[in-house]
Amino acid sequence: MLLEGAASAEQVLAGIEDTLKKLDYSLQHLSPEMFKLTQQLFDVLGMGITRGPLTGIWGSWENASSEQIRNFLHRWENSYLTLEADIAIIGSGVGGGTTAEILSAADYKVLLIEEGPLKTSSDFKLLEDEA
Ligand SMILES: Cc1cc2nc3c(=O)[nH]c(=O)nc-3n(C[C@H](O)[C@H](O)[C@H](O)COP(=O)(O)OP(=O)(O)OC[C@H]3O[C@@H](n4cnc5c(N)ncnc54)[C@H](O)[C@@H]3O)c2cc1C
Repeated sequence: MLLEGAASAEQVLAGIEDTLKKLDYSLQHLSPEMFKLTQQLFDVLGMGITRGPLTGIWGSWENASSEQIRNFLHRWENSYLTLEADIAIIGSGVGGGTTAEILSAADYKVLLIEEGPLKTSSDFKLLEDEA
């Protein structure tokens, strides 16, 4: 994170590009297990339903303010994992997932606890005759 006014627009862009290149390089050199775990972490941070309780950013990353992102980074820097929610649901299957969606739409902060691996729609064919 760069403090406002600390660098010119060109320096900021060059800094972002450099950071992304270093990140790509580091990701390419992770073990397969660590790479998978890192991907899962980014999936969790990307999905609205998991991002909210983990980061405190309930809307999209694009719409998060600098203050919200600063708070999130500060929180993650100083704690292993803090989860905040109104309701915790054990199991993200048909029942748990549907319940979580309905409660989230009603503005409850919902925490889904799942013992299985993280799956997204891209892991499924979504075609009944091929399921
Ligand atoms: C092969 C197969 C085909 C089916 N086809 C159909 C169909 O075509 N149409 C239909 O309507 N139904 C079908 N069903 C039934 C349907 O899948 C179930 O009725 C439905 O999944 C039940 O939903 P659920 O939320 O109760 O449980 P699940 O969907 O099984 O979800 C439970 C979740 O809780 C997690 N969990 C369990 N214990 C814990 C714990 N202690 N901590 C954390 N997480 C935990 C599990 O990992 C799982 O993800 C099928 C079932 C099977 C097995």
